[in-house]
Amino acid sequence: MNLDEIRNRIFTAIENEEKRQHEGVNLIASENLSSDDVRRAAGSMLAHKYAEGYPGKRWYGGCQYVDECEEIAVDLAKKVFGAQYANVQPHAGAIANLIVYTALLSPGDTIMSLLLNQGGHLSHGSPANISGKLYNFVHYPVKESDCTIDYDEMERLALEHKPKILLGGASSYPREFDWKRMRQIADKIGAILMADVAHTAGLIAAGVHKPVFPDVHVMTTTTHKTLRGPRGALICAQEEFEKKFQSGNFPGIQGGPFMHMIAAKALALRETLTDEFREYQREVLASSAAMAKWFIDRGKRVVTGGTDCHFFLLDVYASYGVNGDQAEKRLMEDNIAVNKNGVAYDPMPISKTSGLRIGTPFMCSRGWKTADFLSLAEQIDKTLTTLGESDPSPSPESFKKRK
Ligand SMILES: *Cc1c(COP(=O)(O)O)cnc(C)c1O
Repeated sequence: MNLDEIRNRIFTAIENEEKRQHEGVNLIASENLSSDDVRRAAGSMLAHKYAEGYPGKRWYGGCQYVDECEEIAVDLAKKVFGAQYANVQPHAGAIANLIVYTALLSPGDTIMSLLLNQGGHLSHGSPANISGKLYNFVHYPVKESDCTIDYDEMERLALEHKPKILLGGASSYPREFDWKRMRQIADKIGAILMADVAHTAGLIAAGVHKPVFPDVHVMTTTTHKTLRGPRGALICAQEEFEKKFQSGNFPGIQGGPFMHMIAAKALALRETLTDEFREYQREVLASSAAMAKWFIDRGKRVVTGGTDCHFFLLDVYASYGVNGDQAEKRLMEDNIAVNKNGVAYDPMPISKTSGLRIGTPFMCSRGWKTADFLSLAEQIDKTLTTLGESDPSPSPESFKKRK
């Protein structure tokens, strides 16, 4: 391969990806379409600047302009989430969580979070992730009856295991967390209450979901999911944690901050304060809820019987006799991107799953309204009905036997 060819291939791939994002239907709940402002900052020359440390206290000279960007981003993060403290440097959601754990705990300490196969995230104690290797995670479940979080069981487990951090927030749990109830539980055992709102931060910023402060002690979030900013993350907390998180981030885990992404975070946070953004998040939730209801009205199984957020979980095995993997691949043939997703108490193996996670943020950013999502629901229903008739999934038991 010659050098020009390499260049061509990369720029062609970028163009093709842009085209794919403009033309395909994207229902991936963790993705979004950021503004021109955000992308302009993210691709700016701020990327070249080394700025280890914090505004006014850097290890390098020439930081006057990036300092201004970071100060604005911090002020906006505090304002948007009602927090006393914010750190906008974390490069990603998983890293933000690691910064919080390492700043507050010693290896071997106990953290309690939602079961990973019922909606929790990898960074909430998966044995394959550093979190699960460093800390002793115990998990609380959802109820078998309706798949909503069992707060009584959470309390019982918390009293039994006495975690130092009680962690709420998830990647594929479609209901709002009860932060007040969780704070009562945390207070009974002197635990720190942590909210990982990576998925729902945009809904919170727009006032569509309740604020997490002052109920929680610390909040982490990505900035690229519903928040509609650049790839990255931030930490917000009560004032008392300032010292721990400042040094926990740098030099604790990270080196130089990505100043271009911090400028982009400031612009994304600014956008959350507009009427347009609040209207957008209302549409995101309304579309997701309307689509979930469309399937329920036709006798299909939606996990928890609906949604409070920007996505819902359709049990395609119970509804159409196909597994999540088959449904994902079949819909992709029609240029509809969704992801297969385990449902709580899923009989299917994790590589197949019974569910699809269907989210509205990306398409709402492209201007879709509820009516557009309802015609799409009809199309998806037809496709999956046909697939179930022509190519039904083998039973969960047969996958087990094959192993
Ligand atoms: C997406 C997500 C993360 C991780 O974010 P990355 O930026 O991919 O590291 C962490 N927690 C939850 C709940 C998430 O959904």
